[in-house]
Amino acid sequence: MLILEGTALNAMRAHAREAYPYECCGLMVGFDDERRVVHRALRLRNVNTESPQVRYDLDPLEVSRAEKSLAPRETILGIYHSHPDHPARPSQFDTDRAVETARLWPGVSYIVIAVKQGEVEAVRSWQLDESRQVFEAEPLEIA
Ligand SMILES: [Zn+2]
Repeated sequence: MLILEGTALNAMRAHAREAYPYECCGLMVGFDDERRVVHRALRLRNVNTESPQVRYDLDPLEVSRAEKSLAPRETILGIYHSHPDHPARPSQFDTDRAVETARLWPGVSYIVIAVKQGEVEAVRSWQLDESRQVFEAEPLEIA
C-alpha cells in the first residue's frame, strides 16, 4: 500500500501534463516509516534523447544530488513516470529496468501516470515481484 499526500499527487500530475507529449520522471519522497506516505514529489529531467515519447532515463548525477538533498529520516519511496497516450501500466522495458533498480532501491513503488491528449487519465502504483520479475498492482490511497 502506498499513500500519496494530495500535494505530491498534484505535483506529479502537473509534471506529467507539462511534459506531454514526452515522458516525465521523478522520485517520490517520504519518511522512513512503516506507513509508506509520499509527502513530496521530486522532479527529475528525462534525459532520453532518442525517444522521450516512449522512454525515460534518469540522470545518475541528478539522482545522486537528489539523494544527498534528502532531509533526515527522508527516503526514496518510489519512482514516477508518465505514459503519453499509453495505459498506466509498466511496459516490458519498465519491468526489465526495475529488475536492475531493485538492487539499488529494493521495494520501491512505481507510479505510472497515463496522459491522454495532454490530460491525466489514470494514476496507478505498481511494485515489482522480484522473484517472478513481474509488476503487480499496488493499492494506492490519497491522503
Ligand atoms: Zn513506462
